Amino acid sequence: MKVIVSGGAGFIGSHLVDALIDRGIEVYIIDNLVSGQKENVNPQAQLYVVDICSEEASKIIMNIRPDAFYHLAAQADVGKSVQYPKYDGDVNIIGTLNMLEACRKASVRKFIFASTSAVYGNLNNELLSEDEITVPASFYGLSKLTAESYIRLFYELYRQSYTILRYANVYGPRQLPKGEGGVVSVFFDRLRKGGHINVHGDGKQTRDFIYVKDIVTANIAALENGDQETIQVSTSQRTSINEILSFLTDIHGISILREFTAPREGDIKHSCLCNKKATNLLSWKPLYTIEDGLKETYEFHQHDMTSACLESEQMG
Ligand code: NAD
Repeated sequence: MKVIVSGGAGFIGSHLVDALIDRGIEVYIIDNLVSGQKENVNPQAQLYVVDICSEEASKIIMNIRPDAFYHLAAQADVGKSVQYPKYDGDVNIIGTLNMLEACRKASVRKFIFASTSAVYGNLNNELLSEDEITVPASFYGLSKLTAESYIRLFYELYRQSYTILRYANVYGPRQLPKGEGGVVSVFFDRLRKGGHINVHGDGKQTRDFIYVKDIVTANIAALENGDQETIQVSTSQRTSINEILSFLTDIHGISILREFTAPREGDIKHSCLCNKKATNLLSWKPLYTIEDGLKETYEFHQHDMTSACLESEQMG
């Protein structure tokens, strides 16, 4: 089996590539390395450094003619989307459209798309389901929602099969301290630098944090399941920022200095996605508890963390 992963040099995409290769699948990557990194790329995958908006990227798809196309390449930074809406739209809408067209021409059996809880906007419901109204509050949420609509229409008009996966807040190794859901990586970055951690608001705000390896297994399940469905990939659990910090303190073994600052404008208090549809249709469930996921992420950062502690001891 052959698959292409767009965004395969990025945080989530690179973990997906590793898991596909472990399963004996032939993997090709399309990534322009704007936020992805060559070091993330599995040596057994073939990387094409091209833009998803380019003619070259379409030709690669038509030459490879993969069985499935995972579309993760994106402008994935909410703040940047508000600052540069045209760039966000070019990558997330036009880029997706370019990839969809090429997949249709190459008769790709399945198009699997990385969408987001940002499509719902500022809904504060206890537990959101896929049927909830979508009122994006950022251009990122809007561009992802628009891309979803194109994908559905490609099925209606051309029978291009798809699964749309709406991820909750993903965290884990290789995540850069920015972009969507990056709060955990921002905390690790602060720990590494040996400074205090800034908490916006009272820290009681909650999110549905899901470990990257659980996102990967849902993506793999979507190869054979969930055709023509939009499915949330989440833990259905609320974890507060204060809880994350307590877990990190336990793992780190040293108390972490927190500084509480004013809440960020527009930040929602709670966000949690129901994962019933994913467990039913994908025969999938998340396997990592937040403690286990944070521990693995900590181990990944441990070398940097030890150097930071030694440096601060030497400086002190
Ligand atoms: P990331 O920035 O690490 O990965 C995105 C990848 O796409 C990078 O490797 C980047 O170089 C590549 N890319 C960007 N623009 C490109 C272009 N024009 N052409 C080719 N490649 C391009 O981000 P991530 O967190 O790994 O996100 C992966 C996907 O998951 C994105 O589609 C994102 O919207 C979605 N998502 C992420 C989260 C999260 O919490 N991280 C949550 C919901 C959805």
